[in-house]
Amino acid sequence: MTPPHDADARRAVAPVICYPVETLPVPDMALYGRARETLTKVDEVTVAPRDASCFTVPAGHFFRITSVEGPQVGDLNLWAQDDLSERFYSGKTRALHGTHITTGQRMWSSFPTLRPMATLTHDTLDWYGMDAFGGSVHDVIGTRCDPYTNQLLSGGQYHHCCHSNLIRALADHQGMSYAEAEPFVHDVLNVFMCTGFTRDTGQYFMKASPVRPGDYLEFFAEIDLLGALSACPGGDCSAKHSSDVAACYPLLVEVFAPAKGALDGCKARPPTATTAATGAKGSRIAPGQTFQMDINPPRSVRRGIIAHQLLGKAAFSAISTISPKDFSRSSAGSASPVCRWSLTVSTASARRLWRAARV
Ligand SMILES: [Zn+2]
Repeated sequence: MTPPHDADARRAVAPVICYPVETLPVPDMALYGRARETLTKVDEVTVAPRDASCFTVPAGHFFRITSVEGPQVGDLNLWAQDDLSERFYSGKTRALHGTHITTGQRMWSSFPTLRPMATLTHDTLDWYGMDAFGGSVHDVIGTRCDPYTNQLLSGGQYHHCCHSNLIRALADHQGMSYAEAEPFVHDVLNVFMCTGFTRDTGQYFMKASPVRPGDYLEFFAEIDLLGALSACPGGDCSAKHSSDVAACYPLLVEVFAPAKGALDGCKARPPTATTAATGAKGSRIAPGQTFQMDINPPRSVRRGIIAHQLLGKAAFSAISTISPKDFSRSSAGSASPVCRWSLTVSTASARRLWRAARV
């Protein structure tokens, strides 16, 4: 096609950053730095080559992923421990921090919470920077190797892809079937993987990871986390993945507790979304929002009816998504048979309500 006469002028327009991060809440790296001087190991998990394992990290603890026997990349999934629907949002993390992340940057969670799940506190590969090919480490651009793309491109069946490994690990950990677990597996942080986009065709490339045994990437858990890490069948990802060809090594996950008081002064980390349920049709319900009503209860008062009356018609189809823990009742007046019912919507309930109301 013939370019328009002003093609060069249009191409010459300077780009602007989509999401300037100057106003992004800044992690207190000095505090984290002091806390990490006091760490005691409380747990460890070794992830076998071409396999995945789950691990949990309480909020305020640190975890570390270490290369132990040979160059190996890992595919990391993170969920909020009490609600698997809140998970690492690779795309938004990329939009905020760029294609690869390192010390001081964060792994952000999915909507409607969009909050820091983990902050990177130490990266022994931070010297690598960006190489002459445009490659760097710890990317949030790849998805994870999976059997579907492998079959699409090669026609072959391979079931130790990171996607499959993560499904098996999550299913085993949560007592789910593989079919139940699969929708929770999501785009990963590619730990230690060296990737980029080719300058000429813009294609996703990988090259041998610069990681060596002893290298590690360390995180601070901003919330209670469930993690799953796959030791990719691609090994150092210098040539092939989705097969048993590459040399593969284990990865070590260690969880550390800081000393008591080491995080004093650390601010609370609420969800950043203040109106989590504004997507619900007509029901603008936010986490922490409280609804109250006084009623003269019949012999049995069903919480569903209360929720319906409190939240209105829009919430009717979503009533079963509200946690019984959100309800409380008290006597409105000492001599009165009237009860005061309160419903304080938790973050998890608001999220479920939001989702149900959208269906
Ligand atoms: Zn993989």
